[in-house]
Amino acid sequence: MPTLNQPTYLDYNATAPTSNAAKLAITEALDRLGNPSSIHGPGRAARSLIEEAREHVAALAASSQAHVIFTSGATEANALAISAGRSAGRVSRVLCSAIEHPSILENLPSDARIPVTPDGCINLDDLEAQLSADGSPALVCVMAANNETGVIQPIEHVANLVHAYDGYLLCDMAQVPGKLDPLNFVPHADLITLSAHKFGGPMGVGALINYRDLQLQPLFAGGGQERKVRSGTENVAGIVGFGAAAREVLGHSEREPMRTLRDRLETALKAARQDAVIFGQDVERLPNTTCVALPGSGSQQQLIKLDLAGFAVSAGSACSSGKVSASHVLLAMGVSPDIAKCSLRISIGPDTRWSDLERFVEVWAKA
Ligand code: PMP
Repeated sequence: MPTLNQPTYLDYNATAPTSNAAKLAITEALDRLGNPSSIHGPGRAARSLIEEAREHVAALAASSQAHVIFTSGATEANALAISAGRSAGRVSRVLCSAIEHPSILENLPSDARIPVTPDGCINLDDLEAQLSADGSPALVCVMAANNETGVIQPIEHVANLVHAYDGYLLCDMAQVPGKLDPLNFVPHADLITLSAHKFGGPMGVGALINYRDLQLQPLFAGGGQERKVRSGTENVAGIVGFGAAAREVLGHSEREPMRTLRDRLETALKAARQDAVIFGQDVERLPNTTCVALPGSGSQQQLIKLDLAGFAVSAGSACSSGKVSASHVLLAMGVSPDIAKCSLRISIGPDTRWSDLERFVEVWAKA
Protein backbone atom coordinates (compact mmCIF):
# COMPACT_ATOMS: atom_id res chain seq x y z
CA MET A 1 0.00 0.00 0.00
CA PRO A 2 -0.23 2.09 -2.02
CA THR A 3 0.48 0.05 -5.15
CA LEU A 4 0.88 1.17 -8.74
CA ASN A 5 -2.23 2.86 -10.23
CA GLN A 6 -3.92 2.91 -6.85
CA PRO A 7 -4.85 6.17 -5.20
CA THR A 8 -2.84 7.46 -2.29
CA TYR A 9 -4.91 6.12 0.56
CA LEU A 10 -5.42 8.62 3.38
CA ASP A 11 -8.62 7.18 4.81
CA TYR A 12 -7.48 4.67 7.43
CA ASN A 13 -10.25 5.65 9.86
CA ALA A 14 -12.82 4.52 7.29
CA THR A 15 -11.08 1.20 6.88
CA ALA A 16 -7.49 -0.06 7.07
CA PRO A 17 -5.84 -2.47 4.62
CA THR A 18 -6.35 -6.13 5.45
CA SER A 19 -3.11 -7.45 6.89
CA ASN A 20 -1.25 -10.32 5.25
CA ALA A 21 -1.63 -12.43 8.40
CA ALA A 22 -5.41 -11.88 8.35
CA LYS A 23 -5.62 -12.70 4.62
CA LEU A 24 -3.72 -15.94 5.13
CA ALA A 25 -5.83 -16.97 8.12
CA ILE A 26 -9.06 -16.17 6.24
CA THR A 27 -8.00 -18.16 3.17
CA GLU A 28 -7.09 -21.17 5.30
CA ALA A 29 -10.41 -20.95 7.18
CA LEU A 30 -12.36 -20.77 3.91
CA ASP A 31 -10.76 -24.04 2.86
CA ARG A 32 -12.12 -25.78 5.95
CA LEU A 33 -15.52 -27.43 6.04
CA GLY A 34 -17.82 -27.57 9.05
CA ASN A 35 -20.46 -25.64 10.92
CA PRO A 36 -19.12 -24.71 14.37
CA SER A 37 -22.39 -25.88 15.95
CA SER A 38 -22.06 -29.41 14.50
CA ILE A 39 -20.72 -31.99 16.88
CA HIS A 40 -18.79 -34.05 14.34
CA GLY A 41 -15.07 -33.62 13.71
CA PRO A 42 -15.23 -30.88 11.03
CA GLY A 43 -17.72 -28.96 13.20
CA ARG A 44 -15.44 -29.21 16.21
CA ALA A 45 -12.50 -28.04 14.08
CA ALA A 46 -14.47 -24.95 13.00
CA ARG A 47 -15.42 -24.31 16.65
CA SER A 48 -11.81 -24.49 17.71
CA LEU A 49 -10.86 -21.90 15.04
CA ILE A 50 -13.43 -19.54 16.56
CA GLU A 51 -12.23 -20.18 20.09
CA GLU A 52 -8.63 -19.56 19.09
CA ALA A 53 -9.66 -16.21 17.56
CA ARG A 54 -11.64 -15.43 20.71
CA GLU A 55 -8.45 -15.89 22.73
CA HIS A 56 -6.64 -13.27 20.62
CA VAL A 57 -9.51 -10.78 20.81
CA ALA A 58 -9.82 -11.35 24.56
CA ALA A 59 -6.09 -10.69 24.95
CA LEU A 60 -6.40 -7.43 22.98
CA ALA A 61 -9.30 -6.36 25.21
CA ALA A 62 -7.71 -7.67 28.42
CA SER A 63 -10.85 -9.68 29.08
CA SER A 64 -11.67 -13.29 29.60
CA GLN A 65 -12.81 -15.25 26.54
CA ALA A 66 -16.23 -15.71 28.10
CA HIS A 67 -16.86 -11.98 27.79
CA VAL A 68 -16.22 -11.76 24.03
CA ILE A 69 -19.34 -11.78 21.83
CA PHE A 70 -18.66 -11.83 18.10
CA THR A 71 -20.94 -9.66 15.94
CA SER A 72 -21.07 -8.35 12.37
CA GLY A 73 -19.10 -5.25 13.35
CA ALA A 74 -19.04 -2.34 15.78
CA THR A 75 -22.45 -1.13 14.56
CA GLU A 76 -24.14 -4.30 15.73
CA ALA A 77 -21.97 -4.52 18.85
CA ASN A 78 -23.05 -0.99 19.84
CA ALA A 79 -26.73 -1.83 19.34
CA LEU A 80 -26.34 -5.00 21.38
CA ALA A 81 -24.50 -3.14 24.15
CA ILE A 82 -27.24 -0.51 24.32
CA SER A 83 -29.71 -3.33 24.95
CA ALA A 84 -27.98 -3.76 28.32
CA GLY A 85 -29.41 -0.38 29.27
CA ARG A 86 -32.87 -1.66 28.61
CA SER A 87 -32.65 -5.05 30.23
CA ALA A 88 -30.08 -4.95 33.00
CA GLY A 89 -32.75 -4.29 35.59
CA ARG A 90 -30.73 -1.77 37.59
CA VAL A 91 -30.21 0.55 34.63
CA SER A 92 -33.24 2.37 33.33
CA ARG A 93 -31.83 4.98 30.95
CA VAL A 94 -29.09 5.38 28.35
CA LEU A 95 -27.08 8.57 27.77
CA CYS A 96 -24.43 9.27 25.13
CA SER A 97 -22.04 12.00 24.09
CA ALA A 98 -23.22 14.17 21.20
CA ILE A 99 -20.28 13.04 19.04
CA GLU A 100 -20.87 9.28 19.11
CA HIS A 101 -20.98 7.24 15.92
CA PRO A 102 -24.47 7.04 14.34
CA SER A 103 -24.68 3.40 15.47
CA ILE A 104 -25.10 4.82 18.99
CA LEU A 105 -26.88 8.11 18.26
CA GLU A 106 -29.55 6.65 16.01
CA ASN A 107 -30.50 4.14 18.69
CA LEU A 108 -31.18 6.78 21.34
CA PRO A 109 -33.59 9.71 21.71
CA SER A 110 -32.13 13.15 21.01
CA ASP A 111 -32.65 14.33 24.61
CA ALA A 112 -30.17 11.71 25.84
CA ARG A 113 -27.09 13.59 24.52
CA ILE A 114 -24.26 14.99 26.61
CA PRO A 115 -22.69 18.05 24.96
CA VAL A 116 -19.00 18.46 24.13
CA THR A 117 -16.63 21.41 24.50
CA PRO A 118 -15.38 23.39 21.45
CA ASP A 119 -12.32 21.11 21.53
CA GLY A 120 -14.53 18.06 21.06
CA CYS A 121 -14.21 16.58 24.56
CA ILE A 122 -17.25 15.47 26.52
CA ASN A 123 -18.39 18.13 28.98
CA LEU A 124 -17.90 16.44 32.36
CA ASP A 125 -20.03 19.01 34.24
CA ASP A 126 -22.96 18.32 31.95
CA LEU A 127 -22.44 14.61 32.35
CA GLU A 128 -22.51 14.93 36.10
CA ALA A 129 -25.61 17.15 35.97
CA GLN A 130 -27.44 14.58 33.86
CA LEU A 131 -26.33 11.71 36.06
CA SER A 132 -27.48 13.45 39.23
CA ALA A 133 -30.69 14.99 37.84
CA ASP A 134 -32.45 11.66 37.85
CA GLY A 135 -31.22 9.38 40.60
CA SER A 136 -31.58 6.23 38.49
CA PRO A 137 -28.37 4.54 37.28
CA ALA A 138 -27.57 5.06 33.61
CA LEU A 139 -25.72 3.27 30.86
CA VAL A 140 -23.44 5.97 29.43
CA CYS A 141 -21.92 5.64 25.94
CA VAL A 142 -18.70 7.56 25.33
CA MET A 143 -16.29 6.62 22.56
CA ALA A 144 -12.56 6.36 23.30
CA ALA A 145 -11.53 8.35 20.21
CA ASN A 146 -13.68 10.15 17.69
CA ASN A 147 -13.54 8.78 14.14
CA GLU A 148 -13.78 12.24 12.50
CA THR A 149 -11.56 14.49 14.63
CA GLY A 150 -9.47 11.82 16.39
CA VAL A 151 -10.15 13.61 19.71
CA ILE A 152 -9.58 11.27 22.65
CA GLN A 153 -12.15 11.33 25.41
CA PRO A 154 -11.26 11.48 29.14
CA ILE A 155 -12.49 7.93 29.68
CA GLU A 156 -11.05 7.49 33.16
CA HIS A 157 -12.84 10.63 34.43
CA VAL A 158 -16.05 9.66 32.66
CA ALA A 159 -15.91 6.18 34.20
CA ASN A 160 -15.31 7.57 37.69
CA LEU A 161 -18.38 9.79 37.39
CA VAL A 162 -20.59 7.10 35.87
CA HIS A 163 -19.59 4.60 38.54
CA ALA A 164 -20.06 7.16 41.32
CA TYR A 165 -23.71 7.31 40.21
CA ASP A 166 -23.93 3.52 40.07
CA GLY A 167 -24.10 3.34 36.26
CA TYR A 168 -22.19 1.51 33.52
CA LEU A 169 -19.89 2.80 30.80
CA LEU A 170 -19.98 1.60 27.19
CA CYS A 171 -16.83 2.67 25.37
CA ASP A 172 -16.80 2.40 21.56
CA MET A 173 -13.17 1.55 20.86
CA ALA A 174 -13.49 1.02 17.11
CA GLN A 175 -10.78 3.58 16.34
CA VAL A 176 -8.23 2.54 18.94
CA PRO A 177 -6.45 -0.74 18.07
CA GLY A 178 -3.49 -0.23 15.75
CA LYS A 179 -3.26 3.46 16.72
CA LEU A 180 -3.11 3.48 20.52
CA ASP A 181 -2.84 0.81 23.19
CA PRO A 182 -6.40 -0.29 24.12
CA LEU A 183 -5.16 -0.72 27.68
CA ASN A 184 -5.30 3.09 28.05
CA PHE A 185 -9.10 2.78 28.11
CA VAL A 186 -10.11 -0.81 28.77
CA PRO A 187 -9.72 -0.93 32.55
CA HIS A 188 -12.32 1.81 32.99
CA ALA A 189 -15.16 0.53 30.82
CA ASP A 190 -17.87 -2.02 31.59
CA LEU A 191 -18.59 -2.74 27.93
CA ILE A 192 -16.42 -2.09 24.89
CA THR A 193 -16.99 -2.50 21.16
CA LEU A 194 -14.46 -3.31 18.43
CA SER A 195 -14.45 -3.47 14.63
CA ALA A 196 -11.97 -5.77 12.86
CA HIS A 197 -11.62 -3.81 9.62
CA LYS A 198 -10.26 -0.72 11.36
CA PHE A 199 -6.98 -2.47 12.20
CA GLY A 200 -6.16 -5.12 9.61
CA GLY A 201 -9.04 -7.56 9.93
CA PRO A 202 -11.85 -8.03 7.41
CA MET A 203 -15.03 -5.98 7.15
CA GLY A 204 -18.25 -7.39 8.59
CA VAL A 205 -16.93 -8.66 11.91
CA GLY A 206 -16.52 -7.09 15.32
CA ALA A 207 -17.11 -7.77 18.98
CA LEU A 208 -18.80 -6.62 22.12
CA ILE A 209 -16.83 -7.26 25.30
CA ASN A 210 -19.22 -7.58 28.22
CA TYR A 211 -16.80 -7.38 31.19
CA ARG A 212 -19.49 -7.40 33.91
CA ASP A 213 -21.72 -10.05 32.37
CA LEU A 214 -24.53 -7.52 32.01
CA GLN A 215 -27.77 -8.97 30.81
CA LEU A 216 -28.21 -8.29 27.08
CA GLN A 217 -31.29 -8.50 24.91
CA PRO A 218 -30.60 -10.36 21.67
CA LEU A 219 -31.33 -8.17 18.64
CA PHE A 220 -32.91 -11.15 16.86
CA ALA A 221 -33.98 -14.68 17.73
CA GLY A 222 -32.47 -17.87 16.34
CA GLY A 223 -30.14 -20.72 17.19
CA GLY A 224 -28.67 -19.10 20.31
CA GLN A 225 -25.02 -18.88 19.24
CA GLU A 226 -22.58 -16.63 21.13
CA ARG A 227 -23.93 -17.39 24.59
CA LYS A 228 -27.49 -16.97 23.38
CA VAL A 229 -27.16 -13.28 22.57
CA ARG A 230 -26.12 -13.35 18.91
CA SER A 231 -27.88 -16.02 16.91
CA GLY A 232 -26.75 -17.08 13.45
CA THR A 233 -24.03 -19.38 12.15
CA GLU A 234 -20.77 -17.69 12.99
CA ASN A 235 -18.75 -15.95 10.26
CA VAL A 236 -15.86 -18.35 10.83
CA ALA A 237 -13.47 -16.92 8.24
CA GLY A 238 -14.20 -13.35 9.32
CA ILE A 239 -13.73 -14.18 12.99
CA VAL A 240 -10.46 -15.96 12.22
CA GLY A 241 -9.25 -12.89 10.30
CA PHE A 242 -10.29 -10.69 13.23
CA GLY A 243 -8.31 -12.93 15.59
CA ALA A 244 -5.23 -12.76 13.37
CA ALA A 245 -5.41 -8.95 13.22
CA ALA A 246 -5.94 -8.73 17.00
CA ARG A 247 -2.89 -10.90 17.53
CA GLU A 248 -0.80 -8.64 15.31
CA VAL A 249 -1.69 -5.38 17.06
CA LEU A 250 -1.56 -6.81 20.57
CA GLY A 251 0.92 -4.86 22.66
CA HIS A 252 1.30 -2.13 20.02
CA SER A 253 1.38 1.19 21.67
CA GLU A 254 1.42 4.34 19.61
CA ARG A 255 3.59 4.37 16.52
CA GLU A 256 5.58 7.57 16.95
CA PRO A 257 6.47 8.05 13.25
CA MET A 258 2.78 8.38 12.43
CA ARG A 259 2.27 11.24 14.90
CA THR A 260 5.38 13.02 13.65
CA LEU A 261 4.12 12.72 10.07
CA ARG A 262 0.64 13.93 11.00
CA ASP A 263 2.04 16.95 12.87
CA ARG A 264 4.25 17.76 9.90
CA LEU A 265 1.21 17.52 7.63
CA GLU A 266 -0.70 20.00 9.80
CA THR A 267 2.17 22.48 9.73
CA ALA A 268 2.25 22.18 5.94
CA LEU A 269 -1.55 22.62 5.64
CA LYS A 270 -1.42 25.82 7.67
CA ALA A 271 1.59 27.10 5.74
CA ALA A 272 -0.17 26.48 2.40
CA ARG A 273 -3.48 28.02 3.50
CA GLN A 274 -3.54 30.38 6.49
CA ASP A 275 -7.35 30.27 6.48
CA ALA A 276 -7.40 26.50 7.15
CA VAL A 277 -9.06 25.46 10.41
CA ILE A 278 -7.77 22.34 12.14
CA PHE A 279 -10.13 20.85 14.72
CA GLY A 280 -9.14 19.56 18.16
CA GLN A 281 -5.51 20.57 17.67
CA ASP A 282 -5.02 21.58 21.30
CA VAL A 283 -6.23 18.36 22.88
CA GLU A 284 -5.16 14.72 22.80
CA ARG A 285 -5.95 13.08 19.49
CA LEU A 286 -5.31 9.83 17.67
CA PRO A 287 -1.81 10.07 16.21
CA ASN A 288 -3.02 9.52 12.63
CA THR A 289 -5.99 11.88 12.25
CA THR A 290 -6.42 15.44 10.99
CA CYS A 291 -9.79 17.09 10.50
CA VAL A 292 -9.38 20.33 8.56
CA ALA A 293 -11.77 22.83 6.97
CA LEU A 294 -11.02 25.05 4.01
CA PRO A 295 -13.59 27.86 4.34
CA GLY A 296 -15.40 28.61 1.09
CA SER A 297 -14.64 25.25 -0.48
CA GLY A 298 -17.33 22.59 0.08
CA SER A 299 -16.28 19.13 1.23
CA GLN A 300 -17.80 17.49 -1.83
CA GLN A 301 -15.93 19.79 -4.21
CA GLN A 302 -12.66 19.09 -2.37
CA LEU A 303 -13.31 15.35 -2.37
CA ILE A 304 -13.93 15.28 -6.11
CA LYS A 305 -10.80 17.30 -6.94
CA LEU A 306 -8.68 15.18 -4.64
CA ASP A 307 -10.16 11.96 -5.99
CA LEU A 308 -9.37 13.03 -9.55
CA ALA A 309 -5.81 13.79 -8.46
CA GLY A 310 -5.51 10.31 -6.92
CA PHE A 311 -6.09 10.92 -3.21
CA ALA A 312 -8.61 8.95 -1.15
CA VAL A 313 -9.81 10.97 1.84
CA SER A 314 -13.21 11.45 3.50
CA ALA A 315 -15.43 14.39 4.24
CA GLY A 316 -15.56 15.21 7.96
CA SER A 317 -18.54 12.93 8.06
CA ALA A 318 -19.00 9.83 5.96
CA CYS A 319 -21.39 10.47 3.13
CA SER A 320 -24.34 8.18 2.76
CA SER A 321 -26.03 7.87 -0.63
CA GLY A 322 -23.31 10.03 -2.16
CA LYS A 323 -24.39 13.25 -0.41
CA VAL A 324 -22.12 14.95 2.11
CA SER A 325 -23.89 16.74 4.95
CA ALA A 326 -22.34 18.88 7.70
CA SER A 327 -20.67 16.68 10.30
CA HIS A 328 -22.71 16.22 13.48
CA VAL A 329 -19.41 16.03 15.37
CA LEU A 330 -18.26 19.47 14.22
CA LEU A 331 -21.73 20.96 14.77
CA ALA A 332 -21.72 19.56 18.33
CA MET A 333 -18.36 21.32 18.86
CA GLY A 334 -20.04 24.61 17.98
CA VAL A 335 -18.46 24.90 14.51
CA SER A 336 -20.68 26.94 12.17
CA PRO A 337 -22.50 24.87 9.52
CA ASP A 338 -20.75 26.91 6.80
CA ILE A 339 -17.32 25.85 8.04
CA ALA A 340 -18.40 22.31 8.94
CA LYS A 341 -19.52 21.80 5.34
CA CYS A 342 -15.98 22.56 4.17
CA SER A 343 -14.20 19.93 6.27
CA LEU A 344 -12.11 16.93 5.30
CA ARG A 345 -10.71 14.08 7.34
CA ILE A 346 -7.24 12.86 6.54
CA SER A 347 -6.32 9.66 8.36
CA ILE A 348 -2.93 8.16 7.68
CA GLY A 349 -1.47 4.72 8.34
CA PRO A 350 1.87 3.14 9.16
CA ASP A 351 2.76 2.97 5.44
CA THR A 352 2.02 6.60 4.62
CA ARG A 353 5.06 8.47 3.31
CA TRP A 354 5.88 12.14 3.61
CA SER A 355 6.19 12.45 -0.18
CA ASP A 356 2.49 11.44 -0.51
CA LEU A 357 1.43 14.05 2.02
CA GLU A 358 3.52 16.72 0.36
CA ARG A 359 1.75 16.09 -2.95
CA PHE A 360 -1.58 16.01 -1.13
CA VAL A 361 -1.04 19.46 0.38
CA GLU A 362 -0.25 20.92 -3.05
CA VAL A 363 -3.54 19.68 -4.54
CA TRP A 364 -5.64 20.40 -1.44
CA ALA A 365 -4.45 24.01 -1.19
CA LYS A 366 -6.04 24.67 -4.62
CA ALA A 367 -9.19 22.59 -4.04
N1 PMP B 1 -17.86 3.26 15.83
C1 PMP B 1 -16.89 4.02 15.30
C2 PMP B 1 -16.19 5.01 16.18
C3 PMP B 1 -16.53 3.87 13.96
O1 PMP B 1 -15.56 4.63 13.44
C4 PMP B 1 -17.21 2.91 13.17
C5 PMP B 1 -16.87 2.73 11.70
N2 PMP B 1 -17.01 3.88 10.95
C6 PMP B 1 -18.21 2.14 13.77
C7 PMP B 1 -18.51 2.35 15.10
C8 PMP B 1 -18.97 1.10 12.98
O2 PMP B 1 -18.15 0.00 12.74
P1 PMP B 1 -18.52 -1.13 11.68
O3 PMP B 1 -18.07 -0.62 10.35
O4 PMP B 1 -17.73 -2.33 12.12
O5 PMP B 1 -19.98 -1.38 11.78
